[in-house]
Amino acid sequence: MSGFVFNEKPIQIERGDGAYVYDDSGTEYLDMGASYACVPLGHKHPAVHSAVSEQLEKITYVQASYPNAERTALYDLLAKTAPDPIDKTWLCNSGTEANEAALKFARSATGNSKIVATMQGFHGRTMGALATTWKNKYKKPYEPLIGDVEFVPYDDSEALEEAVDEDTAAFIVEPVQGEGGINPTSDGYLEDAREITEDAGAALIFDEVQTGMGRTGALWNSQRAAVAPDMITAAKGLGNGLPIGATLCRDWIAEDYGSHASTFSGGPVISAAAGATVSTIIEDSVPGNAAVIGDYLLTELEAAIGDDVRDIRGEGLMIGVEVGRGANAALKKLALNHQVLALPAGRTVIRLLPPLTIDKDHADAVVDAMAEVVE
Ligand SMILES: *Cc1c(COP(=O)(O)O)cnc(C)c1O
Repeated sequence: MSGFVFNEKPIQIERGDGAYVYDDSGTEYLDMGASYACVPLGHKHPAVHSAVSEQLEKITYVQASYPNAERTALYDLLAKTAPDPIDKTWLCNSGTEANEAALKFARSATGNSKIVATMQGFHGRTMGALATTWKNKYKKPYEPLIGDVEFVPYDDSEALEEAVDEDTAAFIVEPVQGEGGINPTSDGYLEDAREITEDAGAALIFDEVQTGMGRTGALWNSQRAAVAPDMITAAKGLGNGLPIGATLCRDWIAEDYGSHASTFSGGPVISAAAGATVSTIIEDSVPGNAAVIGDYLLTELEAAIGDDVRDIRGEGLMIGVEVGRGANAALKKLALNHQVLALPAGRTVIRLLPPLTIDKDHADAVVDAMAEVVE
């Protein structure tokens, strides 16, 4: 094996269609992980495919300093859909880059350096974003990372108020923690975060790399909480499987962002893919489906296995089942015995991040499989 291999699975995936993927012998699997939430519209979605193939016929890439219709349309679409007054977009290639940019922009626009982040939080693996990520396992081999990062307990307004001061550039937070175990916030926490950062003159960054694109029942979780941060970062599902990241900003950030750029910022093919993904999510009311099927799945899981597991929690189609140390064994059984692919979140939680287009039959199939696996 000549490539870097991460935790390789004994299933070779060769094809996808809607909520299903197929291995090299044709076996069908229900894809309840969507490869880390990267395919919100399901595999091989026709709108995304035709947008990409039409663009490939015109031009594959042109640098961001030449205006291009696909890129401009994506800027406009993201500005239109982001909570007001967020209306500027920086495009890149991944979640960590989107957060890296957000941290740089916050330092430039505020003139401060201190970053406040949350325990159990995950923001990516480049040096800056990694410094705001909680787990030591990810950080230790690469230290020293950027300094001046303070961690506070998640979902704790008092601790946040103590940490954020006039030297703070930004508070970065996931509205629902993903990698950290699917941890939603209590009512009022995100509103408190807004007030605390505003009072201190610090930027509020919502890392919506996982919660965005309709996953929690609104296009942005920020809309569900009715809080407009200073920046929203997005990636994962934004290109329905093709790599793209975005940092959405308010004017005061965009006006003083410093000097940041990336060679592949907003190429026409990826812009076409993301434009088709976001438009389809809106036109097909995909976030509404995520809310309805998410609630249904959560309720059915609770009824079927609520007594057998430690906890079931989530928002929309971002659901965590805390099973304890057996999570990895359970995931393996789900895949090999029940042809259901799911994800871990830490060592104790089974994480479900399916395509947002799944229906009740898919949800029932998952509940049946989970019931047999956790028994
Ligand atoms: C996955 C993830 C990232 C990192 O995204 P990459 O594209 O892997 O760099 C950042 N923040 C959150 C919340 C994520 O879930």
